[in-house]
Amino acid sequence: MTQTLTNQSRSSALKALKCKECGAEYELQATHVCEFCFGPLEASYDFSRLSQPITRESIEAGPNSIWRYRSFLPVETDTPIDVGTGMTPLLKSHRLARQLGLKNLYIKNDAVNMPTLSFKDRVVSVALTRAQELGFSTVSCASTGNLANSTAAIATRAGLDCCVFIPADLEAGKVMGTLIYGPTVMAVQGNYDQVNRLCSEVANTHGWGFVNINLRPYYSEGSKTLGYEVAEQLGWELPDHIVAPLASGSLFTKIYKGFREFVDNGLVDDKAVRFSGAQAEGCSPIAQAYKEDRDFINPVKPNTIAKSIAIGNPADGVYAIDIAKKTNGTIESVTDAEIVEGMKLLAETEGIFTETAGGTTIAVLKKLVEAGKIDPEEKTVVYITGNGLKTQEAVQGCIGQPFEIEPKLGSFERALERSRTLDRLDWQPVLV
Ligand SMILES: *Cc1c(COP(=O)(O)O)cnc(C)c1O
Ligand SMILES: [Zn+2]
Repeated sequence: MTQTLTNQSRSSALKALKCKECGAEYELQATHVCEFCFGPLEASYDFSRLSQPITRESIEAGPNSIWRYRSFLPVETDTPIDVGTGMTPLLKSHRLARQLGLKNLYIKNDAVNMPTLSFKDRVVSVALTRAQELGFSTVSCASTGNLANSTAAIATRAGLDCCVFIPADLEAGKVMGTLIYGPTVMAVQGNYDQVNRLCSEVANTHGWGFVNINLRPYYSEGSKTLGYEVAEQLGWELPDHIVAPLASGSLFTKIYKGFREFVDNGLVDDKAVRFSGAQAEGCSPIAQAYKEDRDFINPVKPNTIAKSIAIGNPADGVYAIDIAKKTNGTIESVTDAEIVEGMKLLAETEGIFTETAGGTTIAVLKKLVEAGKIDPEEKTVVYITGNGLKTQEAVQGCIGQPFEIEPKLGSFERALERSRTLDRLDWQPVLV
């Protein structure tokens, strides 16, 4: 329905789905696995078919959202679902950098991405735009929390029916942050990998558009915008080193693809960018394979507070390892205690309240610095992918309590005195 050579197709470079393993090409349908070798399918493009070349100026003249990069995204419409996703702040770090001994640290802050405060709004904006083009009226996902928030919110905005699947033990903020939009929510008694398996069966029987299953080749391309934006925000230049969290590994591989496409289209100079990945020790199948120099993943059962990145059988794990190796980066894991410390460190130095996934990334950044694996001069970008208000359970009991005082000056003065002598964790929420 969308393949004819109209004005639309000349503003889209989308060409085919291509198997990452054997290179077989497929039509641009809702399909994600190669029939010959069972490899994953990925969107491929022919940028020469665009009627206008992509330039820095044409991008800068676009909307203040991920859709300024529309020519690089796997859609054909001129009117994508634009809910203001993307173009989140890239902050030059001062206080965290000084504390870690780094001179050139930047923080890409997707804790304030729109509309649901995680990087998942990027992939869902793309997936649901494509879902509409392919004629789906019901969309769905297998989620560790943030994806359910995004899918439910953006589906509502687009007028699509929505049914999402989550593990039953998710944080309250993630569940509420889905229910409020009114989708059908299935809380599955099992971990994410079991949720995902169930969803694959539902996708086969119900004909729904699952953003991260049958629409995955389109969905995953949305993560490339985390590469494009950083390059543009650095003044059309690539960084020297990036540190990003790994769940399925998709985000990590797509930042890489985004940088390569910018180089190939002459938008930035080529540069050797090092890619380092972060996992929680309680679910670190990619970090373990990396450490043991394996090129295959041994699936694990997740047991960590970093639920949003707790995928025991990561689909893109081997591709993430390949990129870390060939770029001279690394993959590291940290304990739950270090994750909480990472969340507090980022909040106390930069005023950013991230969720457990961001705590994981900051804790890994710190570990890499301490191990001498980040040069203080390197232009390093750390990706913060989610918001701390959604995982309040993780820090409850580790950040102290407010003083409760009478509405009297004397009560305030006594409390102020105590605040100066006591450690914050020893504050008591009592009248003083
Ligand atoms: C989903 C998610 C990621 C990473 O996902 P990938 O599957 O590796 O693409 C990172 N951070 C947060 C907060 C997430 O929700
Ligand atoms: Zn194949």
